[in-house]
Amino acid sequence: SRDRAIQYFGSFPGSDIPTAVDEQLINEARTRLLGDLVILNTCILLAAGVAGYFLAGRTLTPIKKMVEDQSRFFGDASHELKTPITSLKSEIEIYFRQRKKTIKDADSVIKSNLEEVNRMQNLINNLLTLATLEKVGEKLEFERLELTDILKDAAKSVQSLAKKKKTRIVIRDVKHAQLNGNYNSLVQLFTILFENAIKYSKDNSSVTTSAKMGNFLTVKVEDKGVGIPEEEIEYIFDRFYRVDKSRTSGETGGFGLGLSIAKEIVTLHGGEISVKSSDKGSTFIIDLPVF
Ligand code: ADP
Repeated sequence: SRDRAIQYFGSFPGSDIPTAVDEQLINEARTRLLGDLVILNTCILLAAGVAGYFLAGRTLTPIKKMVEDQSRFFGDASHELKTPITSLKSEIEIYFRQRKKTIKDADSVIKSNLEEVNRMQNLINNLLTLATLEKVGEKLEFERLELTDILKDAAKSVQSLAKKKKTRIVIRDVKHAQLNGNYNSLVQLFTILFENAIKYSKDNSSVTTSAKMGNFLTVKVEDKGVGIPEEEIEYIFDRFYRVDKSRTSGETGGFGLGLSIAKEIVTLHGGEISVKSSDKGSTFIIDLPVF
């Protein structure tokens, strides 16, 4: 390029020496620059690699937790379904092994089988509810609602259990309480809370629900039941969590899904659910936005 420059512009005095020095300098600078660039790029690559590793770990942690939760959920659900199926099967097998079969025996097997089938139906309904809430969650249709209507409907759906346990449901101070929400899921929320309040109380008890309007609509469901031990409170909203694990049959034999459904519904409404409890009873407090 130097020769070409001379061709174009002709030689000029003293141009030879500086140009030779320039070329050497340029070569040296080029080599140095190349070396620096290699070091710089290696550093950037290493830094990016290390940062990527940590950031990927951070991003993956919630995903990893979700996968673990899902697999625990499937394990628990399968286990809960296996128990009634095993019991159904063994009762039927024992019946068929009997030499003399009477109608009375058959009746008692069928009656017991029906109980197990009801239990399974209950579990499947709960699982379907959870799946539906997760799926339609974000598109849940909201409308302007009166709290009284929701509470009355929820009380109606636990009527037979309340009657059986001679428990009264008292609805107080809820007039004029309004909110934006999904009617059916809110009825389901209070049905779960009323049902628990009745289930975990002695006979002849009462359940009181009251509301207050402020920045939030605060609804309380208060019972005089067995209460929840302090150390268990943080877990009761988890799926399949039961305080007394031995309660697997009879009227208190739930699956530990009720409160997790309740929490999901409250969360989908942008609210919060909490509980205060002692050995004199429990109060579930629900804060719902009123906008
Ligand atoms: P379950 O089907 O067992 O009732 P939930 O998810 O509705 O499941 O409740 C989880 C656990 O929390 C219950 O097993 C019970 O031990 C406890 N619990 C819920 N509500 C009450 C209540 N009102 N009083 C006392 N304990 C309760």
